[in-house]
Amino acid sequence: MPKFSKLSRIHLWGLGGFFAILALMNANYLQTPIAYLKGVGPHRADLLKSELGIETFGDLLQWYPNRYLDKTQYHKIGELKDSGADLQVLGKIVHLKTVEQKRGKRLVATFVDDTGQMELVWFRAHKWIRENIKLNEPYVVFGRVNRYGSTFSMPHPEMELLKQHQAGLKISMQPIYPSTEKLSNAGVTNKVVSKLIQQLFLETKANFGETLSQELLGELKMISKADALLNIHFPKNQELLAKARFRLKFEELFYVQLQLLNKKAIRKHKIKGLPFDQVGEKFNHFFKNHLPFALTNAQKRVIKEIRNDLGSSAQMNRLLQGDVGSGKTIVALMCMLLAIDNGFQACLMAPTEILANQHFNGLKELLADMDVSIALLTGSIKKSARKPIHEQLENGELDILVGTHAVLEDKVQFNNLGLAVIDEQHRFGVAQRSKLWHKNKLPPHILVMTATPIPRTLAMSLYGDLDISVIDELPPGRKPIKTVHRYDANRLNVFRFIKDEIKKGRQVYVVYPLIQESEALDYKDLMDGYESLAREFPLPEYQISIVHGQMKPQDKDYEMERFVKGETQIMVATTVIEVGVNVPNASVMIIESAERFGLSQLHQLRGRVGRGAKQSFCILMTGHKLSSEAKTRLETMVRTNDGFELAEVDLKLRGPGDLMGTQQSGLLNLKIADIVKDNQVLKSARYYAMQLLKADPKLEQPNHLVIRKAYGDLVKDKTIWGYIS
Ligand code: ADP
Ligand code: MG
Repeated sequence: MPKFSKLSRIHLWGLGGFFAILALMNANYLQTPIAYLKGVGPHRADLLKSELGIETFGDLLQWYPNRYLDKTQYHKIGELKDSGADLQVLGKIVHLKTVEQKRGKRLVATFVDDTGQMELVWFRAHKWIRENIKLNEPYVVFGRVNRYGSTFSMPHPEMELLKQHQAGLKISMQPIYPSTEKLSNAGVTNKVVSKLIQQLFLETKANFGETLSQELLGELKMISKADALLNIHFPKNQELLAKARFRLKFEELFYVQLQLLNKKAIRKHKIKGLPFDQVGEKFNHFFKNHLPFALTNAQKRVIKEIRNDLGSSAQMNRLLQGDVGSGKTIVALMCMLLAIDNGFQACLMAPTEILANQHFNGLKELLADMDVSIALLTGSIKKSARKPIHEQLENGELDILVGTHAVLEDKVQFNNLGLAVIDEQHRFGVAQRSKLWHKNKLPPHILVMTATPIPRTLAMSLYGDLDISVIDELPPGRKPIKTVHRYDANRLNVFRFIKDEIKKGRQVYVVYPLIQESEALDYKDLMDGYESLAREFPLPEYQISIVHGQMKPQDKDYEMERFVKGETQIMVATTVIEVGVNVPNASVMIIESAERFGLSQLHQLRGRVGRGAKQSFCILMTGHKLSSEAKTRLETMVRTNDGFELAEVDLKLRGPGDLMGTQQSGLLNLKIADIVKDNQVLKSARYYAMQLLKADPKLEQPNHLVIRKAYGDLVKDKTIWGYIS
C-alpha cells in the first residue's frame, strides 16, 4: 500500500464508505482493501493480514466459521453421545453439592430431564451460583459437554430460566471463526470478527453476484450464492447451513476441476507435441535382444499407453504410478529409446545423487551393447567434466542425460530434448517441472514416475490435468515381504535374527529417522545406533556401511558402493536411502523409531527389500509409548503390502495436507471443501465440470457466461491455483 501523510490518511478512512460504494459500483468491491471496512482501520488491517492472510473484502467474506454454537436445538440428556460438543439442554437442577478436591472445591449440580441426568460444574463463583440458582425450575443451559465414563458434565454453562429464554427468543447459531492467540490478545475476538462480517454484509448490501449457472443451481437444487454466504456466516438453522456448505464446497471444487480440465484440454489441442511417429530400430533391438526379462502385462499396457501419447500430435504429460519394485525404470528406458529413435534426446531426473548414480549405472548396463550415448550430471560432477557433457548435449552427440537437479541449471542446454522423465516426483516441485518445459523450443513430453500411490480422490484434485498410468502388478516370483512390529526391549532377538540372515548371505538395512527440526538429536541417535551395532557385529566378521546426510557425496557413494557390491553386510542409514535404491540381495529392513515415520515413508523404506527371489523381512522397532495414530500406522504396515491401501489409510489419518509434501505447494489451500471428507462432492463437481466443457468448451452460451466470468475472476485473482503452468 502507498504511504499516505497522516492527514490524507484520516481523510481516506473517512471516505472508506464512499470507496466501498465506488468499489461496489465497479462490481469489484470484493477487491476493496479490508482497511476500508468500518471497524477495521490500519492497525487491525495489518493484524488481519499477518495473522489470517485477509487483505480484501473478498478474503473476509471467505473467512468461514469452522463451527457454530447451535442454540436452535434442545438435546435430550439420554441421547448425549460425544465429548466436546457445544450443546443446549433443557432441564432442572434437582441437587447441588460441593465436592472437595486437591486443588480447591468444585460445585456440582445434578441436572435432569425426562431422559436422564448429567452434571453442571463450577470451579469458581460458587457463592453467586448458590445464592442465585433456583432448584426444580426449568432452565436452558448451554456449554461444552464432556464425558466421564457414562456421566456427562458441562463446566460453567451459560444458563437462563426457560421463562426468560422464551421471552428473549434469541434462537440462533453463533459462528465461531478460526483465530490465533495474537488476534484475540489484540482484542480481535470472535465477536469482533463476527461483527466485521456483519458490517461487510451491511456495506455491500449482501449483494453478492451469482457465480454458478441457473442450470447447475436447478439440477443440484442449490441455494444462491448470496444465500449461501449469508447462511454460512449466520445460519438460520442446521438445514440452511447444510445447504450453504454444500453450495460453497461444490463451487470451490467445481472451479478447481474446471481449471484442471481446461488445462488438459488446452494442452491436448493447442500445445503441439513433438511427433514420435516411429517405433524404430533402437526400441526394437533392445526389446528383442537386451530385455533381461519378460515384461509384466502391466508394464506392456503402460508402454502402450505412453506410445499412444507420444505418437499423437499432443504434448504428453503423464503420471506413472507404480508401487516400489513394480519395474518403472525399464518403462522409462524404453520410452527414452523411442525418443532417440525419433531423433530426440531424453533425460532422466532423480531426486538424489545416489539414485541418479544408480539409474546411470543401471541404464549403462542395460544399454551396454547398444549404440546409445549416455552421461551423468549431478552436483558433485567436477566442472572440468561437465564441460564436455554440456557440449555434447548441445551438439546432439549425447542421447540420454541422467542427473539430479543439476540438469535444470540454465547452462544445461539440449540440442533437441524430446522426453523428460522425472523419477520419484514428489521430491520435485512444480516450478522445476515447468523449467523443463523451457529446455526446448517445443515443450518435451513429460513422464513423471512415482512410487507413492496417490488415492484416486486426491489424484483427481492434484493431477486432474495429467493423464495417469498405473503399473498394478509386480514382476513374477516376488515373495511378499513379511512385516513385524517389535519393541526396543526385544532388540537382542532382532540382532540374533540379523545374524542368521547374514549367515545365509543376505544383507540388512538399519534405518534411523532424520527430521529436520531435530536434526542434531536424530544424528546422535544414528551414531549411537551405529556404535552399538558395531559392538554387536564386530570386525572382521562383519562389515558395516553408514550413509547419512552430513557426509560428503563421494563418501556416501563409496559406502553405498560397498554395500551394493556386497562388501558390507549391514547398511546403517537415514532416510537418504528411502527412494529407489536397488540391492536385490538385501533381505532385511529394520526401521528404528518406526513410530516417527509416516505411512508412505515406511512403505517406501520397506520397498528397499523384497527385490530378489528370497523371502524378505521388515522389522518396525518402537518403544512402548505409542500414540493411537502411530499404532494404526504400524498395524496397517503389518497387515498389508498394498501401496494403494496404505495410501488410503494415510490420507484418512493425516489428511491430504501432509501427503507428499503437498503442503508446501499450497495446492490444497481450500477454503471450505475437504478433499477426503468431501469425496462425493468432488466427484460430482468433476462430473459437472466435464459435462459443461463437453457441451460448451469455450463457455460461450449465454447461460454459461456467469461461469466464464467467475472463472476469469478466479484465475486473475490467483485464488484458484495457477500452479502447473
Ligand atoms: P521401481 O518401480 O521401484 O522403480 P525398478 O524399476 O527399480 O522398480 O525395478 C525393480 C526390480 O525389478 C529391478 O531389479 C528390475 O530389474 C526388476 N524388474 C523390473 N521389471 C521386471 C520384470 N518384468 N520381470 C522381472 N524383473 C523385473
Ligand atoms: Mg525406481
